Amino acid sequence: MGGIILKEEGPSCQILNAKPNDYRVVAGVDLGSTRIKVVIYDGSSFIAGMKDATCDPEATAINLLGKTSSEAGLAEPPEVIATTGYGRRCLKTANITFTEIATHAKGAFHLVPHCHFVVDIGGQDAKGIRLSADGRVEDFVMNDKCAAGTGRFLSTMGQALGIPVDHLGPSAIGVEPHRINAMCTVFAESEVISLIHHGVPRNEIIAGLHSSIARRTASMVASLHPEPPIAFTGGVSQNADIVKRLGREIGYPVIVPPDAIYAGAIGAALLAWEHLAQRSG
Ligand code: ADP
Repeated sequence: MGGIILKEEGPSCQILNAKPNDYRVVAGVDLGSTRIKVVIYDGSSFIAGMKDATCDPEATAINLLGKTSSEAGLAEPPEVIATTGYGRRCLKTANITFTEIATHAKGAFHLVPHCHFVVDIGGQDAKGIRLSADGRVEDFVMNDKCAAGTGRFLSTMGQALGIPVDHLGPSAIGVEPHRINAMCTVFAESEVISLIHHGVPRNEIIAGLHSSIARRTASMVASLHPEPPIAFTGGVSQNADIVKRLGREIGYPVIVPPDAIYAGAIGAALLAWEHLAQRSG
């Protein structure tokens, strides 16, 4: 699948004109710890997708549902609204809720067809999921107890370094890492500040942070014996340097599909569509 952002694919009136009378759509809503992601699916393609920072989760989700529905040219709200993510129980108008493991597995298998393994690193957790040949969840591991190795860890370190999180990846590619010993977010922040004061170049510190996230993630998923193709999803997959280092640590390259940050919302929409199909007999 290419970009799901409707603006990139053409004006919404084309979709409106193309709608048959029995046109049905569902929405997948991923209420994550840092961002809400919403996609609209019509059973064959994703016709709109948007994301926004998580402030008030329910209000943000409602606002995004309205915007994506109008972007998709819908006259009626989606027939089924499925939620996932940390705040999945916040949206009272949702019809169905799925766990993050179920939706990320489903979404990643759709985005990287035939992938055998999924690594997802979001704002507040990291997970590894082993899939069967037909995309069913065989086993999973998850770190949702502490921020170490997650997007929150990365964002905090970016703040300590005075560098926006989306600039971290490009600045560390091909750079020899300076070893970071602390993994706890609080201690690592102190270590980073101390390294800055000792004149260690910022890009070496960043490479060190990326290496430690890659090592930690690879060791977390090692017990599941990841096999390629391996999909890498979640916000941290947008960091190209972590992508490279993670692939090296796991022993196989990891694939970041174009809509990797929407994997949970996409999975929720696909599961919602299956639910709708069952309900309709
Ligand atoms: P959640 O679902 O928990 O809200 P996401 O999967 O949206 O989490 O990931 C959010 C995290 O991704 C942020 O904490 C941030 O560290 C990281 N992130 C977001 N955008 C980028 C980017 N462009 N480059 C690198 N990291 C990013």
